[in-house]
Amino acid sequence: MSVSAQASDRPKLLGLDRIGLESLFVEWGEPRFRAAQVLQWLHARQVGDFAQMSNVNKVLRERLEENCEVGELAVLREQHAGDGTRKWLLGLPDGNAIETVFIPEDERGTLCISSQVGCSLACSFCATGAQGLNRNLETHEIIAQIRVARRELGLDAISNVVFMGMGEPLLNLKQVLPAIRLLLDDYGYGLGSRRVTVSTAGVLPGLAQLGRESPVNLAISLHATRDDIRDELVPINRHYPLRELLAACRAYPLPPRRRITFEYVMLDGINDQDQHARELVRLLAGIPAMVNLIPFNPFPEARYRRSSQARIDAFREIILRAGLMTVTRKTRGDDIAAACGQLAGQVQQGRRSVPLRVLN
Ligand code: SAH
Repeated sequence: MSVSAQASDRPKLLGLDRIGLESLFVEWGEPRFRAAQVLQWLHARQVGDFAQMSNVNKVLRERLEENCEVGELAVLREQHAGDGTRKWLLGLPDGNAIETVFIPEDERGTLCISSQVGCSLACSFCATGAQGLNRNLETHEIIAQIRVARRELGLDAISNVVFMGMGEPLLNLKQVLPAIRLLLDDYGYGLGSRRVTVSTAGVLPGLAQLGRESPVNLAISLHATRDDIRDELVPINRHYPLRELLAACRAYPLPPRRRITFEYVMLDGINDQDQHARELVRLLAGIPAMVNLIPFNPFPEARYRRSSQARIDAFREIILRAGLMTVTRKTRGDDIAAACGQLAGQVQQGRRSVPLRVLN
């Protein structure tokens, strides 16, 4: 009997947030507080062996052993970049694989995680977008990425988590929201809500739901200041154009002293001229914003070039002078194709979908 065939219908404990675990235990006639204990073993202490969960009674441990599984993912390949960036290729039971990247910085360690196998949004400058979508990740597959990194790097290595790997998190909120709750739960990963960032190309119904349900940081992949350019770069713009996207950002229930990050990929001759910088300043007027300029990261078959450093500096100068907070993202891990937009994983039969169909 194959383990994975048997495994597939048992609940995966890594995918259950506190509410999910409580309802399982209530169904089993166990007190609710057991959920916090098991969460703490699984996540905070990273223990997957039920026998080690010493404050959980034996009957419950056996029941967990018989009826559930943890839901870890296998590491298929691990790469180290010269700058300390690490990338893991993680195998899913269905034969697909996803990528997860760890980026060490002086004061923090950021884990960049995937939310889907491939992506349906087909952004023209993104390697994942070129593959189409295979499927959504499940909550345990999102959480398992953090466990792999913590196992390799230590329990304290990850201070920040960003949903900037493969996929569009707002098209998979059903699985992403419980994962966020686990990241924020004190018995889970105990991260402050400022240390978790969801990045979106601008899926507006999902944006409204995220705002209602979760206080995490928001990053918007803006990349252009005019609809004709954005339609080409980020095709979902044809359904949710700039005017609607920026109105949704203005209406977003930001926690106090928080800013929305606007990501802007610098593409030579496409969106990097002085006048685009001035338009960007006008578009963001009145929004608590922070601009993140990302030098384009090439991948095989990419049809764009990275803007020159002089062009990026000139662009940056214009928005800085207008009083907007701006950082230029350092390209990290590009020698192992771990930089933004280079994650490809192993996606089987990606279906490139027209965004409208995905959203209906
Ligand atoms: N679907 C989400 C998360 C995707 S990746 C989103 O669109 O925001 C995170 C960031 O990397 C996005 O801003 C994305 O537009 C950017 N990106 C994608 N491909 C890139 C590339 N080749 N070079 C630089 N940035 C890229």
